[in-house]
Parts: sequence; structure tokens; C-alpha cells
Amino acid sequence: MHRRVAIIGGGAAAAALLGELLERQPPQALHLDWYTGGGTPARGVAYGTRSDRHLLNVRAASMGMFAGKPQGFLDFLQREDPAIAGTDFLPRRRYGDYLEAEVARALALGKAQGHDVQIVPFAADAVVPEVDGVTVFRNEEGRRVDAAVLALGALPPQPLAGVSAAALGSGRYVVDPWPLLAAPPAAAPDHVAVIGLGLTAVDVLLELAARWPGTRFTAISRHGRLPEPHLRAAALPSGDSAELIEAMQDAPEVRRWLHLLREAIAQEEDWRSVIDSLRPHTPALWATLSIEQRARFQRHARWAWERARHRMPPPVHESLAALERAGRLHRLRGHLQDADVDADSLRLTLRPYGGGTPQVLQAGLVVQSAGMDFDVTRTPHPLMRQLVVNRHVLPDPLGLGCQATPQGRLLHEGGTWPRLFAIGSLLRGTLWESTAMPEIRQQARAVADQLLAG
Ligand SMILES: Cc1cc2nc3c(=O)[nH]c(=O)nc-3n(C[C@H](O)[C@H](O)[C@H](O)COP(=O)(O)OP(=O)(O)OC[C@H]3O[C@@H](n4cnc5c(N)ncnc54)[C@H](O)[C@@H]3O)c2cc1C
Repeated sequence: MHRRVAIIGGGAAAAALLGELLERQPPQALHLDWYTGGGTPARGVAYGTRSDRHLLNVRAASMGMFAGKPQGFLDFLQREDPAIAGTDFLPRRRYGDYLEAEVARALALGKAQGHDVQIVPFAADAVVPEVDGVTVFRNEEGRRVDAAVLALGALPPQPLAGVSAAALGSGRYVVDPWPLLAAPPAAAPDHVAVIGLGLTAVDVLLELAARWPGTRFTAISRHGRLPEPHLRAAALPSGDSAELIEAMQDAPEVRRWLHLLREAIAQEEDWRSVIDSLRPHTPALWATLSIEQRARFQRHARWAWERARHRMPPPVHESLAALERAGRLHRLRGHLQDADVDADSLRLTLRPYGGGTPQVLQAGLVVQSAGMDFDVTRTPHPLMRQLVVNRHVLPDPLGLGCQATPQGRLLHEGGTWPRLFAIGSLLRGTLWESTAMPEIRQQARAVADQLLAG
């Protein structure tokens, strides 16, 4: 058993691991250093929002923090309001409340059991793994621990190619939407362009449209399509996903998989039941794909998968449809070629996918919402840079985090680190689905098993 453990990261993944370790009441005293990076521990990016417009995209009954208690969030809510149903989509703010309450409970339990938890409200700057331990640095001061776990979340977003320095310096091009959403300026632009149409873009559109009722929005993405909506009631489980999964495992090729999925969907009342039935099997299916097939998936199927798999709650879908009906939201297909300052606005040039005449757009504000960044080779994140530059970790060849075992042990050129782990976004290339709570809590359990073994 590893008694001295550093947990690095201040979001829900770190909280889930902390909870798993303390909840199990290990026989020997643990010494945990929890580097939270500042901010309110446990909430992280997703659950730090204070806006009730920002809803969970997973139903309440599936959002428990512990793998052994998937209904934990629902139980927490129903203690206050028994009318809340497991199928509801609640504000993410409420999930942050739940995480904080669970962390407080775990800390109290840990203290009562003689475990020592140090909350370090700063970022860890460097991590040096060795075979028999790990040293974690902050301000050039190192602390040696038996094992360390990276739970860093998505990497900070980088400006898209083609955005000029003048556009970035103008304050009219926003690379990270979250600080803007927390405190949008009172002066509303006439026209806002949103780059991306995933769930982050949806949050941006809902929030800014409500704050700025006179503003028009143009949202731009490769296909110009929004995420699919959830059904009001949960989709019924698929009849026989075992057969589908076996067929997919037998033929690990993207083209064949799409064919099999289309066939399976044709037999169901609603396509969502097929997609949802794959959820627990996604890491095993992803593991069967060669690197070429994974690259092919990224190129041809990724966006369709994201739209179908990470869906919008029905009220969110209805709000966006209302914005479109009111003529305040337009969607465009295209790819940002460049963005530059033009008098008191930005001029965007959009290139249609597959060729055609570029389109030019003027906007008073541009909000980049192009999805999570996982590429550890191009990030300015200081800790990740240090780990990559010193070759302590191996980047995923497709830019999806770091190479790791399915149980979360990070790899280096010479093999597997026995005492350096990751959970969450850094495992994207290993597991594919690795960023939502139902997956993260499984990873937290697997890493806790390894830390407490022996
Ligand atoms: C807008 C949005 C909505 C989402 N909605 C849902 C949802 O409804 N349901 C769902 O299941 N999932 C949702 N997700 C997925 C979400 O990623 C996970 O649920 C979860 O929040 C991920 O937590 P995390 O701890 O891995 O990452 P994060 O929340 O990003 O937390 C990582 C934390 O680590 C800190 N950190 C970074 N570097 C260091 C360092 N060197 N030292 C110390 N700390 C550091 C960061 O400051 C940050 O606080 C959503 C994600 C986003 C972005």
C-alpha cells in the first residue's frame, strides 16, 4: 500500500479519488497532499459555474461521485427535495454543491480515522517520477511521496491557427470562454461569432443571449450542427448490444463499425439506445483499434460521435431552437481561416469544408469554444510541459493526452511507471471516453485499488 500520495488537480476527478481513498478506511494512516491549483476544490471548470442555465448533460441518477454509489447525487438532492427525479437534468452548480459536500464528508471521515490530508491551494510545478517514488515540486521545493496521481482536467485552450496577434490583443477574440461567462461586460456587442458548436458553445450561446437580449449570434463549425438532444425520458436499453459489441470487436475497422451501428440503429425505436449501450464498452472497443483506425475515427467519425454521445438536455435544446426562431442565432458550416482586427470589430474569413468561396463575417466579439484541448506536446501548461520536455511521459501519438495503461499508469520510453498515475482527460487516447463523471469515477476506483493494494 502507498501511504504517501500526491493528488494533483482541483476538479471533480481529484475529488472522486480523494473520496475513494478515504471512504475505504484503509488500515494504515494515509498522508495525502492535494494540490488543488487554487479555486474552490472539487468544482473545477465544469461545476464552478454559478449560472442555472448551465445544466448537467447527464441525468441526475447517473452522476454519483463514487463508482459504488452511482445514485449518490440523486440521494443528495432528494434529501432536500424528494420531488427531484433521477431522469432530471440539474444545474451544474448543484453538482458542485454535492461535490463539495462529499469532499467535506470524506475529509471529516479521514480525520476521524487518523489520516492526514494537506490541501495545498496551489499548482504543482513539476513532477519527477522514479521507480521507487515520486517527487512533487512547488516553488522549487520538492516533496517525496510514494505515488502521485495527475487529475489536471483539459489543458488550457490555445488560439486557433489564423487568429492574428492584433485580434488577440484587441480583447475582442476570447480564447477561454469561462471567465467571460462568469462576468460578461455590460456593453453588449451587436453581433457575436462563436467558433464551435459543441456543449461549451451551447453554454456560451445560452448565457450570452440571456445577458445581451439585443445581440445576434453566428455559430460556426465544420458541419454547422448542434449536439443532438436527449429524450425527455431515458432511452430504453438496447435489445442485444452484446451481439453488436462482439461484432465490433471482431472487426476493428471504423468503416465496418459505422455499418454495424447503422444496422443496429435500424432495429431500434430510437438510435440513442444503441449509442448508450456502447458506453460501458467504449474503452475495450477503442483498445481494439489500430493507431491508423483511431486516426481514421478522428477524421471521419469523431464529430458525429460527439454529437450523438454528448447530448443536450431537452430544455437547452428548446432554448436554442427559440433563439433560432427569433432570428438571433444562425449556424454556419465552415472552418476559420483567419481573424483580424477591422476598425472596431473583427473580420473573420471562413473556408467552407471541401472547397468553395471563402465567406467573410464581421463580429464585435468572437468567442472560441472549439472543445477541450488534450495535446500535451503543444500546451503551455507548466507541469505538462515539464513532464513532456523531460520525457517523463509519452504523448499520445494522436494528441490525446499521454500514453497509459487502461488502469491509469503512465508510460515512459522504458516502460510503465509503477507510481505515477493519471485520471480524466489525460487518458483520452487510452480510453477514448474519459472526461465525464461516469467514466472518471471508474478510473478513480481503479487507481485507488492500485494505491491501496498490498
Ligand atoms: C462545460 C462543461 C460541462 C460539463 N458537463 C458535464 C456533465 O454534465 N456531466 C459530466 O459527467 N461531465 C461533464 N463535463 C465533463 C467534465 O470534464 C467532468 O465531469 C469533470 O468536471 C472533469 O473533472 P477534472 O477534475 O478531470 O477536470 P477539471 O474540472 O478541469 O479540473 C482540473 C483542475 O485541476 C487544476 N490543475 C491543473 N493543473 C494543475 C496543477 N499543476 N496543480 C494543481 N492543480 C492543477 C485546474 O486548475 C482545475 O481546477 C463537462 C465539462 C465541461 C467543460
